[in-house]
Amino acid sequence: MTSTSTSPPAAAGSPRQDAAPLLAVHDVTKTFPGKRGRTAPVRAVDGVRFEVAAGETLGLVGESGCGKTTTGRMIVRLLEPTSGSITFGGRDISHLGPRELRPLRRHLQMVFQDPYSSLNPRQTVARIISDPLLVQGSSAADARCRAAELMELVGLIPEHLDRYPHEFSGGQAQRIGIARALATRPRLIIADEPVSALDVSVQAQIVNLMERLRNELGLAYLFIAHDLSVVKRVCDRVAVMYLGRIVEIGPKHQVYTAPAHPYTRALLSAVPLPDPVAERTRERITLLGEPSPSSQLRSSRGDPGRPAAPPPGCTFHPRCPKAQARCRTEAPVLTDTVPATGRRVACHFPEPA
Ligand code: SF4
Repeated sequence: MTSTSTSPPAAAGSPRQDAAPLLAVHDVTKTFPGKRGRTAPVRAVDGVRFEVAAGETLGLVGESGCGKTTTGRMIVRLLEPTSGSITFGGRDISHLGPRELRPLRRHLQMVFQDPYSSLNPRQTVARIISDPLLVQGSSAADARCRAAELMELVGLIPEHLDRYPHEFSGGQAQRIGIARALATRPRLIIADEPVSALDVSVQAQIVNLMERLRNELGLAYLFIAHDLSVVKRVCDRVAVMYLGRIVEIGPKHQVYTAPAHPYTRALLSAVPLPDPVAERTRERITLLGEPSPSSQLRSSRGDPGRPAAPPPGCTFHPRCPKAQARCRTEAPVLTDTVPATGRRVACHFPEPA
């Protein structure tokens, strides 16, 4: 987006919290219509609000279906928000048309979960990486030259540019996806579960690569994931989503060491610990409605909830071990718990932060 390109880049690897946010998502909702009147509309995202600074990585975590991918897709405008605003580099991009979006795409790119399905199997890697540059008006020779540079940057061999995606391993294919995202020198990358389709050994390599690129290029990431150990490794701040809403957001060390929302506490209690003794003796918080690790019995009170028919009051109350009468009728608002730190929690009875 040309209007943003005059901003100086962030210092490599250091979030610019002092400056205006690079990305501001404000009360954004997304409602999908029901099927021909037979099913109710689905509010997949319900009033989400967060910011990402230049050079910062914000983790967006939650269970499958909580609305985190829909949020990412609205930011890159693969989906249009139903309401609310998305501001990038100081410009409201929520409802821009295709022509106005084209220059924006240079600065705002996406890395997808499944590297193979996101790469055209009939195109060479050279074509795949060059495509965003050709769309932006680069010559074929310049685009190929840049594609070779990018192959090297992401740890691949430039001589393999004329190969096809199926000739690469899953980890290598994801490196190609990252190279394509970097082609236009973006300022923000939406990484949607970028390692969850990869083997554990390869996950670490891709996470290392993304960290290195962030430090070298001053990139910002919105890192969407369900694996809290990966998020802990790469993020400066973390936002936890449940049924379309953010229930807790704050600096990573605060959220991980003193989670205030019962849902965050339950998610973190399920993260495996590296020490086998500590892992055996730790207390796992079991949400109502999910199998207990000891009994494998399902509680009759619990219900994971559906975006098409969210429970009244706090949408988490059917699963919450701390729920009280007020929670069944009154929805909690995302509120500052530690002023000036950006720590916010949506719960009537949060743990001390
Ligand atoms: Fe649990 Fe009530 Fe807090 Fe919701 S508001 S998370 S039900 S304690």
